[in-house]
Amino acid sequence: MEKGHRAIFKHCPFCWSTDTAFVIAPVPHSDLIEYYVECHSCKATGPLVTSSKRAVELWNERSGNAV
Ligand SMILES: [Zn+2]
Repeated sequence: MEKGHRAIFKHCPFCWSTDTAFVIAPVPHSDLIEYYVECHSCKATGPLVTSSKRAVELWNERSGNAV
């Protein structure tokens, strides 16, 4: 997972679907780009962060913590 965009996502922590996607969201009126992971099945979204790597990490951590 060195350069980000081909990361593996874990299943959704809410509905356990693996139909998840990485979303790139440019912030209006700024140079920032934010990233998050979204579940297409239940529309859950991961934390919105400015690092693509971190967005995936946070999603995977959350998934890993789900019971
Ligand atoms: Zn889901």
